[in-house]
Amino acid sequence: MEPVEGECGKCGEATVFGYTLVDYRGWLRVTKCRSCLNVRGSERIQPPAQAG
Ligand SMILES: [Zn+2]
Repeated sequence: MEPVEGECGKCGEATVFGYTLVDYRGWLRVTKCRSCLNVRGSERIQPPAQAG
């Protein structure tokens, strides 16, 4: 996880965190508040380049 721009619309936390995950449809970029665990948003992304 890394901090991203924007605040949580639910609890007002100044910093939310972004991370990537994979589900059955592919890769997702999810932005989530670490305080209240509110999911601020998610979007489909291209698979990250594999190292090596
Ligand atoms: Zn929050």
